[in-house]
This record gives sequence, C-alpha cells and structure tokens, in this order.
Amino acid sequence: MPQPRAAQPALPQTAPNDRQSNRQPDNARTAAPTGGQAGAQAGNQDRVSDILRADQPAADVLIVGAGPVGIRAAQELVQKGRSVTVLSTEVVTPYNRVRLTPLLGGDVQFSDISLLEQEETELPYALHYGQRVVRIDPDFKHVVTAAGTVWPYQTLILATGSDAFVPRIAGRETPGVYTFRTADDASALIARSFSARHVAVIGGGLLGLEAARGMRQRQCKVTVIEHETHLMPRQLDRVAGAQLSKNIEELGVTVRTGVAVREILGETRVTGLMLSDGMRVDCDTVIICTGVRPNIQLARAARLHIGAGITVDDRMQTSDPSIYAVGECAEHRGQLFGLVGPGYAQAQVAAQVIAGQEAVFEGTAPTTKLKVIGAEVFSVGEIEQLEVQPNVRSHVWHEGDLYRRIFIDRGRIVGALAVGKWDQASRVQDAVQQGATVYPWMLFRFRRQGLIWPVSDDAADEMPDSAPLCNCTGVTCGQVRGAMAQGCATPAEISAQTGAGTVCGTCVPLLAEMIDAGAQPAPMPLWKPVLALSAIAGLAALLPILLGYVPLPTSYDPDSLRVWLWQDNIVKQYSGFILLGLTLMAFAIGLRKRFRFMDRLGGFDGWRLVHIGIGLATLAGLFAHTGFNLGSGWNLALAVFFIGAILIGSVAGLATGADHELRARRIGSARKPPRKMPTWLHILALWPLPVLILFHVLASYAF
Ligand SMILES: Cc1cc2nc3c(=O)[nH]c(=O)nc-3n(C[C@H](O)[C@H](O)[C@H](O)COP(=O)(O)OP(=O)(O)OC[C@H]3O[C@@H](n4cnc5c(N)ncnc54)[C@H](O)[C@@H]3O)c2cc1C
Repeated sequence: MPQPRAAQPALPQTAPNDRQSNRQPDNARTAAPTGGQAGAQAGNQDRVSDILRADQPAADVLIVGAGPVGIRAAQELVQKGRSVTVLSTEVVTPYNRVRLTPLLGGDVQFSDISLLEQEETELPYALHYGQRVVRIDPDFKHVVTAAGTVWPYQTLILATGSDAFVPRIAGRETPGVYTFRTADDASALIARSFSARHVAVIGGGLLGLEAARGMRQRQCKVTVIEHETHLMPRQLDRVAGAQLSKNIEELGVTVRTGVAVREILGETRVTGLMLSDGMRVDCDTVIICTGVRPNIQLARAARLHIGAGITVDDRMQTSDPSIYAVGECAEHRGQLFGLVGPGYAQAQVAAQVIAGQEAVFEGTAPTTKLKVIGAEVFSVGEIEQLEVQPNVRSHVWHEGDLYRRIFIDRGRIVGALAVGKWDQASRVQDAVQQGATVYPWMLFRFRRQGLIWPVSDDAADEMPDSAPLCNCTGVTCGQVRGAMAQGCATPAEISAQTGAGTVCGTCVPLLAEMIDAGAQPAPMPLWKPVLALSAIAGLAALLPILLGYVPLPTSYDPDSLRVWLWQDNIVKQYSGFILLGLTLMAFAIGLRKRFRFMDRLGGFDGWRLVHIGIGLATLAGLFAHTGFNLGSGWNLALAVFFIGAILIGSVAGLATGADHELRARRIGSARKPPRKMPTWLHILALWPLPVLILFHVLASYAF
C-alpha cells in the first residue's frame, strides 16, 4: 500500500488504513498546474521534488474519483486480486449520485445511498477523502493533490466524472441560485426548501425534471423552463415531450418550453427570472440544470488526448498506456455517456484489461428508462439524430396518455421512445442494441396495438437472456436467471447478488415479475385425473400401432360379435354416427373459449377433463366402428389423422397435468408453458378431420 508524503505545510499523514485520518481534507495547499516558461520551470522543479518525495512503493492501481464508477472499478479490481487506492475529493462517504433525487425528495436518508458495501474499516481497498488531485505526471507515474501529497502509481484510472454546467446567465451568482449534482447541492436544496416558496428550474432535461420532482415533493411551487420546444429534447420527440409536460403539470409543476432565461433577477437574493419572450417568472429560488461538463482538466494538463472528454480506446486506455479513464469523464468513439450504466460497463472492462484479461467496451445506444415525476419515460438511441435522417422511417402508436414511436432503418430497429408504461421496453432496448429486424407484420401490429411482439410473448420470462433488466448496472435478464438458479428467491436477494435494482430502482417491479414467472408453480386443479386419463388415452391410441387390427372371421357366424360389429351395415352406421357425435363433442372445447355464455357450463378445468374423457371414448368408438382395421386411401388418411390427433392430445394432456413439475425442472415457463407446443399440434392435426370425415361419409353412402 503506498504511503504518500505531504508537502509543506504537512498534513498529519497516517497509514491509509487509518480511516479517521483518511477523512481529513487534503486542501492545505493549492497547487495548480503551471503554464508558460516560468511556469514550466516551476513545474519541472515541482516534478523533481515530487519524485524525491515519492519514495514509497507505487500504488498498484490508483483511482482518482470516488463516484459510482470509480468505486465500481475498485470493487472489480479487488475481485481480480489487485491492490487498489481510491482518492476522493469529497469528504463524505462515496454515494450513489443517481439516488440524490429521492434524497432531495425525502424518500431516503443519506445512509441509504452509500456506495460502500462494507464498514469503512473493512473495505478491501484504501479510500482517502479530501484528496483533490491537481496534477498528473505521466512520465514519473504519480499524481499530486492540492495539498501537495504525492501518490505514485503503476496504473492510474481517471474516474473524475462531470461537474454541473452553469451557462453565463446574468445574475447566476445571486444568493438563492443552486445547482444539483452533488450531495452538498442536495443538502443545500433540502435546507432551502424549508423557506423556498417558488422554485424555478432552468432546464427541462432529465436532471431538471428530477430536481423539480424533489422540490415539488417538499411542497414548493415549481416552474420548469426549457428553451427547446419540448421537455427532454435529447430523449423525446415533440409529441412525447408535450405528453410528458401534460403528465407533469397534472402533478402541479408548471412547464414553460420554447423560452430561454435572459436574466436572474434580484440584488441580494433571487426575486425572479426574466425570460426571452419578455415575461417574468417570480421565484425565490433557482436551480440551474443545464447539463454537465466532463472533468478533463487533469488529462489536458497531462497532455493526454482529449476531445469533449478524455479520449479512450475500446479497452478504456487513454493515449498513455498506464492511464485509463472511465465513466462520465471518458469519451469513447466520440461519444460521452451521461448515464451510470455504461460507466459501470467501462469500469468492468478497464478492470479486466488491467488484470490482464481480454475485454472491450463496444459502446451502448444511449438509453433512458425512468419514472420522471411519476411518468414513465423510455428512450433508446440517438433520437434527435434519427428524427432528421432521411433513410430512417418511424412508426407511431398513440392512445390516451400512452405514446410510443419506433425508428426503423432498412428493416432494423435503431431507436424507440415512449411516454407511459410499455412492458416491452426492455425487449425493445435489447432489439435496438442488437439491431434486430422488424418485419412488416410486426410494424402492422405496432401501429394497431403499440406492441412489436404479441403480448403473450412479452412476459418477463420471455425476455432474451441478453435483454438488459437494469440499465443502471447493466445486469441482464440472463444474469438474473442465473441468480435465481442459484437460489435467490426475492428481489432483495437478487439485488444483493447481481446489483440489479440497487441504483435508481426503476427495474425492481420487473425483477419481481421475473421472480414470479420463475417461482415454483402451483399444480393446476384436477391435475391427477388429467394425467391419468391422458396416459390411458395415449396408450389406447398406440394400440393399433402396437397390436394391429382385429381380424374378421373367415367363415360366417351369425352369433359372432365381430361379424355383428364390423360386417352388419346397420351396426356400422350406428357406430359411425356415435363416433361422429363423440368427435363433435370433443370439438366443443374449442367453442368454450370463444363463446362467453358457455362459461356457465362449468370451469375450464372441468371441461378439459371431460374433453380428455371424450377423446378416450372416441378411441373406443373407433375400435367399435373399425376394429382398428384402418383400411386404405382416404379411410386410412382419416384414421391416421384421427389417431394422431388423439395421440398428440394425450401428450398435451400429460404436459398439462405435469406442468408444475416440468416448470420446476425449468422445462418451459409460465408464459411458455410446456403444453403449448403439443396443444397447438393437437389443434393442427384436427383441422383436416372435418373434410376427411365428409369424404368418408359420402363415400360410404355412394358405394
Ligand atoms: C440528481 C442526479 C440524478 C441522476 N439520475 C440518473 C439516472 O436515473 N440514471 C443514470 O443512469 N444516471 C443518472 N445520473 C447520472 C449519474 O449520476 C452519473 O452518470 C454517474 O454519477 C457518473 O459516475 P462517475 O463516477 O463517472 O462520475 P461522478 O459521479 O461525477 O463522480 C466523479 C467523482 O470524482 C471526483 N473528482 C472529480 N475531480 C477530481 C479530482 N481532481 N480529484 C479527485 N476527485 C475528483 C468528484 O468529486 C466525484 O466524486 C444522475 C445524476 C444526478 C446528479
């Protein structure tokens, strides 16, 4: 473990394991990166003295930034047996930034949003508070903090995240103006909410709406001002934005779109906002939520390649092979990710690469799936760009408060958005990530019903293993199923094992649905008689194959039952019509589902049992009519379909009766029950029967 030494004036330095002292802010001296010639000289002297002072063994992996992604990188690396030191500029326990909104709204306490999985004294990595890194020396592999403490490293990970971006609006320094990015911001806003009456939120993006929600929950009057034409312009189109505005206004938040804030009014305290359309909004508190800017100053000063963020390759490596960047500060293939899910994926990749494993981050389509002030919002893909691309066609479904739109490029789905609940959202997200093909009939269904797949195919247990269940942590349905197979039976147990649902919590209902779907199913009513009758029917249907037919007597014997049954025309007609009647009765179960009035004739479980009984009786009827002498030509075809339908029906009956046992052995699932396939085959085999029976009857009378 590295033992840093502080420059003058020296902070009391203790071993990193002394958590008490680790909390001391390291801000006794402000050392900024130098510039110009004099600066360069001073810089060189600094570097030499830094090297002399850095006489401790270098950290195996040093992480700058203790946000969610930095901490995730530390956890991943420790699991891979690496020794890790994390430097945090903040002096509070690392926390889950995503959950600042429920903290602001009063739904959770600070202790609930901690990122630490253990007591601080038991952490498997060294965590140092108040360590604001102000310089990286890539040549001599160390970083220097504001207090002059030198931290050597072998591998460095930059996880410095972003800061709130405050545009140059006149009056932005006035008391009563806030941002919403850190725990300190949240604390300041909570304190302010006790005296605030009217809060104006500048910015109608995700963060602005989150801030609005928090302050509204604290009983403040809230107005959101968005200079684009609609809310969440990066994630939603105009109609969806308008729908969201409507939903939000119903909750008592005023929304103004299409106007910019020209000035924040007030001398010693905020009194209002002056808008670009000349209107004034009276307010005593302003929250600026106009986006974030990645923290790239350290990387720039260290001459790492930068763009809008710190440029990284697919292995999360910067232009210096010993330095990695992950999370909101990293720019991958020209893209910045303002969400925590991709950051976690990057942390995992960086940890794997550092541990000597092969791993690449291939990027993800930007995805938002959240409850924004009680309204569910879903967006995947670069919506703003897709809207203007000439080769991309979009399809819309709108009904009441529900709005859905999908974007198709040459038959493949490339983006989607929705306001209001959409059960298929996770599957759509997966389809966009995979660039799945959407066929014309799927588009037809979408335009009519707002569903890409039939509803029964969209249950939690039907989602492919690759479908993301939790966007924040990147946990897929497959991983959740894996946890369930290992015995996790509650959302809390699955969260503890996989991390799913631990960040924003939006996916917890889906998690519960998956558990329900995978739970030990209860046996269906009457399952034992269903099993028994189906088994008997199956065996009976095999008799003509196993035993063959009953031969006719070679000489005439008027007392012979065989002669009476199979050679007397009248008896044959009777047995034939009885068989036809039984067959029609067996068909009646199909009508039972279609005609509601038939509900009065008993529950479906009873009908099913009777249906199987009739199936068995038709076999007896067939025997009485033919002695299993199946004939040839059309007669043979009729008999084959007849017996085949009963045989498959008996398999369907067995699968139905044993449904709970089969599903417990993970054969089939609640939405894809084991009986589904044989039942459909049974129905399919019945289709030719009416025509074949008609032929048979006509032929019998004609000849
Ligand atoms: C209110 C709110 C709600 C959000 N909701 C969602 C959501 O629902 N879903 C979602 O996916 N995302 C959401 N986000 C975004 C999400 O929080 C970020 O994507 C995530 O925090 C990025 O993690 P990070 O570790 O890369 O950066 P950060 O969380 O910004 O952490 C970076 C850390 O590095 C530290 N640091 C910076 N510079 C230095 C330095 N020089 N020396 C030492 N330390 C330094 C910072 O102090 C900070 O602690 C939300 C954000 C906010 C603010």
